[in-house]
Amino acid sequence: MIYIGESSQHGRGVFASGFIAAGTHLIRFEGPLLPRAQVDFGDYHLQVGDDLYLGPSGGPDDFVNHSCAPNAGFAEGLILQALRDIAAHEEITWDYSCAIDEADFPGFPCACGSASCRGLVRSYRHLEPAVRERLRPWALPYLRDRYR
Ligand SMILES: [Zn+2]
Repeated sequence: MIYIGESSQHGRGVFASGFIAAGTHLIRFEGPLLPRAQVDFGDYHLQVGDDLYLGPSGGPDDFVNHSCAPNAGFAEGLILQALRDIAAHEEITWDYSCAIDEADFPGFPCACGSASCRGLVRSYRHLEPAVRERLRPWALPYLRDRYR
């Protein structure tokens, strides 16, 4: 259903092998669960709790890029789901602000190229309230719990 390929955005990315219908479960994110003190910030990591991170799995979940107008999101825990129909060979993306919520995260410039690009990928807590509200359904459970 998916494959790792070259992204126009940054290096490798994950793409649809064929048409994928909205609602399809794409990838379950996996990897070692680590407290922040044990995270290698130079390697793939995903924040999944206050002091809890997922380290690299070595699988395609490590290579899904960010977009401010993503076609996938986390509807149920760590399962990435298609938010709309995805065409064959379209890059699969999710919004990293749906996971990151570090108080000291400086953000990084976004190159997603979407019309709604926010310019900077930031912690969920640093988003405009209206953006937070819009992203809430696709945010990781710990964020939905924290910002009710
Ligand atoms: Zn963007």
